[in-house]
Amino acid sequence: MFVVDLTFDCYQDTTLDNAEAAINRVVNALRFNGQIIGEEFPTVLKDGFFITRVMCPEEDSLHPLNHSPFVKHSIGLLQEAGLLAPKVKVIGQDIHSNGADMCHEPSCFILYTTYVHTCSPLYCGDDFQPVPLYKIPAIANGDYKALIKWQEDWQACDQIQINGATRCEFPALHEISDPTSDLSRRGLDLSKRIRYLTQKPVYYYLYRVGGESLDTELARKCPSCNGDWALHEPWFGLFNFRCDSCQLVSNLSWDFQ
Ligand SMILES: [Zn+2]
Ligand SMILES: [Zn+2]
Repeated sequence: MFVVDLTFDCYQDTTLDNAEAAINRVVNALRFNGQIIGEEFPTVLKDGFFITRVMCPEEDSLHPLNHSPFVKHSIGLLQEAGLLAPKVKVIGQDIHSNGADMCHEPSCFILYTTYVHTCSPLYCGDDFQPVPLYKIPAIANGDYKALIKWQEDWQACDQIQINGATRCEFPALHEISDPTSDLSRRGLDLSKRIRYLTQKPVYYYLYRVGGESLDTELARKCPSCNGDWALHEPWFGLFNFRCDSCQLVSNLSWDFQ
């Protein structure tokens, strides 16, 4: 991922509140369009310029060709707050984060995230690189807000169950591991939508922890069709189970790895 500074020039007197609201609108729009990643975007006021630091999946993520209608609209509204459209300055590549998928035509996708992942929740099924969302057709209302919201909820549930310090632990675990949970149903609907838009398989990930023994875990069946789905070799070293007819993947219970 790339660290990028957005510089907003004030061309007329404005209030801090107005400027802040207008900049936030642009940042949210870019986020829901997959052009910037993350949840915290520090903004400084320096020499009459507002500078917001963001992370982008690709060097040219902020190219206007990638803008959604909401991004264009939000940039247009900057004027009312006395601000010009942002100047984009790429600072460089972040050494900690992962890259972005470069495949021209991935053969399939995987919808997957964890609480530590700061990247697109859509992965290429050929090399397991995160796919910048603006590379696929918009999911609804011109962008990917529904997918980003699903990812936020998934990560929040994952964080709660990993910390294991509250009564929410088991309900949170249920949301990310049971295919009939509210969160899974939302994720499965999104997978179906992406399948329709891209005309490619989209696998949905079900978290797995617990179980009685390694043997019973290895013998686990697909929770949707009850068919065999254990793989001889884990897919990308992570998914030990894959059902091609239901397009579901899962890991070997973390208790037996
Ligand atoms: Zn790829
Ligand atoms: Zn199945």
